[in-house]
Amino acid sequence: MCPQNLEQLVVLHWQTGEHIDYCGYAVLPMAIEQDILIAVEPVKTQVVQLANTNSLYLDFSTNVNNIQINKTKPQWHNYFQCGLKGIQEHFGLNNPTGMNCLLDGTIPPSSGLSSSSALVCCAGLVTLRANGKTLSKVELAEICTKSERYIGTEGGGMDQSISFLAEEGTAKLIEFSPLRATDVRLPSGAAFVIANSCVEMNKAATSHYNIRVMECRLATKLLSKSKGLDWKKMVRLHDVQTELGVSLEEMLTIVKEVLHPEPYSTEEICKCLGISLEELRSQILSQNTQDVSTFKLYQRATHVYSEAARVLEFKKICNEAPANAIQLLGDLMNQSYISCREMYECSCPELDRLVDICLQFGAIGSRLTGAGWGGCTVSMVPTDKLNTFLKNVSYDCFTSKISG
Ligand code: ADP
Ligand code: MG
Repeated sequence: MCPQNLEQLVVLHWQTGEHIDYCGYAVLPMAIEQDILIAVEPVKTQVVQLANTNSLYLDFSTNVNNIQINKTKPQWHNYFQCGLKGIQEHFGLNNPTGMNCLLDGTIPPSSGLSSSSALVCCAGLVTLRANGKTLSKVELAEICTKSERYIGTEGGGMDQSISFLAEEGTAKLIEFSPLRATDVRLPSGAAFVIANSCVEMNKAATSHYNIRVMECRLATKLLSKSKGLDWKKMVRLHDVQTELGVSLEEMLTIVKEVLHPEPYSTEEICKCLGISLEELRSQILSQNTQDVSTFKLYQRATHVYSEAARVLEFKKICNEAPANAIQLLGDLMNQSYISCREMYECSCPELDRLVDICLQFGAIGSRLTGAGWGGCTVSMVPTDKLNTFLKNVSYDCFTSKISG
């Protein structure tokens, strides 16, 4: 293969703003060094051939006019095809070019660092270039957000947006509808360290992620109905706040008044909304949540509204940079983690242990990053403690592993 272009996409982690992008709320991610690279050679046939430097990912080839994306057993080439299909559909390409592609990735997969989105975005980018088209970074991010949903995950857009919009030396506040990114300077004197629990959680192959998206969607519907809003049109928790014109704090009070902490059965939800089980399944639930019988709405909505407030607070502290900024940001990270663990239930014992280890060895704040149920933590560590932190955390993880 003689690659003509080499495209590269960086990926991300974020300090705060977990599971709220798909609810319409702003998030605060930044890029890390690991990436996905694709070398691409446009060819005259209409065949896309994919190869991977990692032999675990098998070669694949398909005709560009016959893209089939398997949602139930997603393999790596399905993610590539998401990006490919997104660009083809956006431009209505009748005669898309074939490509020989070689992919090389350094992001640990299924670990909350958005390897899937890096792959989808990079595939979108090479398809764009190979077909001689151009788009702005914001347009690319919006297209790739939609096209990653072809794999079945109902994601919100943070991962794809930061993949395209990240810049060196700054985190970004990413806001949606319309998509926009604002620089957020992190205070000096602390480093962000990512540690991997080495528990993998594939988001498309399991229903954990989509169940949370559905719980937020159902909470949106029930809150809207109770407030006399046009609940059928409301999809995201952000929509409820906008329609009611109230603050995030007031939304938290409304959640307490309207929703109950006990899980909702599908029967109760149908009764509240005045719809049949068939309507619930066909009009609201995703394909892989059709058989879920109970949903926690109070806890999920509480996490989302409080997490949205933490993102804004995080940005405010960074902008104002008070003397105790690092402590305040660390507190927010810890609160975010507790909310993920208790209200969103997206942690796991290995992540809980890793957060404890990081806090024990000097992190001011530590939390899971990405969707959770495995994957990585991000910790904020004062620069003067960084060396001992790195040494002790790796040693402690190593010894606890070998001692079982
Ligand atoms: P993440 O949290 O990293 O986004 P996901 O579960 O959403 O995890 O997606 C992981 C999937 O992305 C992997 O199972 C694999 O199919 C694909 N993937 C990630 N990195 C690579 C890579 N280097 N080469 C091929 N596929 C990859
Ligand atoms: Mg992913």
